[in-house]
Amino acid sequence: MGLQDKYDRKDIRRLNAVNVLNQLRINRELSRANIAAKLGLTRATVSNIVSELIAAGLLLEAEYLEGQSGRPGLLLQLNPNFGAMIALEIDVDRVVIMLTNFKQVRLWRQSVAMPKGASVDTGLGLAEGLLSRALKIAKDKALRCLGIGVAWAGLVNRNSGELAYGPTSRWENVPLRQVWEDKYGLPVYVENEAHAAAIGMYHFNNDAEKNDIVYLSLGVGLGAGVIIDGNLLRGRQGYAGQVGHVSHSPNGHPCSCGKTGCWITEVGAVAILRELSNANVSVNHDASDEVAWIDQVCEMAEAGDEAVLSTLANIGQHLGEGIARLVETFNPSSVIVGGRLGKVIKYASPSIAEVLKNRPMHAMGESVELTVSCSEEDSLVGCLASVFDAAMKNPVFDSVS
Ligand SMILES: [Zn+2]
Repeated sequence: MGLQDKYDRKDIRRLNAVNVLNQLRINRELSRANIAAKLGLTRATVSNIVSELIAAGLLLEAEYLEGQSGRPGLLLQLNPNFGAMIALEIDVDRVVIMLTNFKQVRLWRQSVAMPKGASVDTGLGLAEGLLSRALKIAKDKALRCLGIGVAWAGLVNRNSGELAYGPTSRWENVPLRQVWEDKYGLPVYVENEAHAAAIGMYHFNNDAEKNDIVYLSLGVGLGAGVIIDGNLLRGRQGYAGQVGHVSHSPNGHPCSCGKTGCWITEVGAVAILRELSNANVSVNHDASDEVAWIDQVCEMAEAGDEAVLSTLANIGQHLGEGIARLVETFNPSSVIVGGRLGKVIKYASPSIAEVLKNRPMHAMGESVELTVSCSEEDSLVGCLASVFDAAMKNPVFDSVS
């Protein structure tokens, strides 16, 4: 069965339009000829789609002078003023918001501390305060808001958008998508933070060979976002990727989940603090702040403190062993370690790489690219990608197709 039989013409036009927009999201500016070449479409097909997208307000074109000949050409780009997008991360110790235009240029960012053990009402109250401010800024700039993407440190039900269970916050069954869609009258996309980060990494990846990504979000907890053949593995309820609680060292340390020897007990924030203390490294650890010590440890590592570096190398060994299991399970092209501890894990990456070189069977470890992300914004980027994707697919194209 050919593509034409499987989809009707409208579907194909819509798919082509989404692909054109994606090319412009990744490459920023392209000519019609560039787009045709990248997508394997004819110039005529691309010109038709582009005309419709310009008419719908999604694209802009600007004249430029080509090379030394000085011939005028036209470059296309996403129209930044097509709308605004909001990304919101609700973590155990903070709420972060980012407002961007349709070109994903940042217009405003703000972060507020989440009190330790905050209730659902307190936490969502903080988030709603930030959301009101973001919506006001968008309105003042005459940008309609296209949607709100939310990343949360816990299990998110894929069908209902409920915050199903937060292992650290202990929040349970919060119908966030429903509540906020009713309150704000906007589409709301809720994702687990590791899933969101994986979505972000995948969408901004410009390498067609990299369709298989494992993103590990490491902080107080450890979750994975796994993308295989370009699809996020969500599982039946959407809870897939809870790799922090797989058994790692059976006679190891007790875990917050009630079991003993989970992987997180050797690699997470609690483990790093415990091992630093065992190595007689003193860290100003304020019990009311789960992650305030991170910068201090990074400074000591950067200054070449041997006890810190060797502690982090041991943590890297444990991380590497768990990553090797994931590499054998999923055979990814890239493994990215990020989240709040990314900055610290940077100093453990040589020992992770060493394990990956030797452990996984039949060269799977050698072909995998290991990256440590220190950005702390990978989940937010994924939130924006969710809003952008949805805005492109529906209902924007009702006027286009
Ligand atoms: Zn556990």
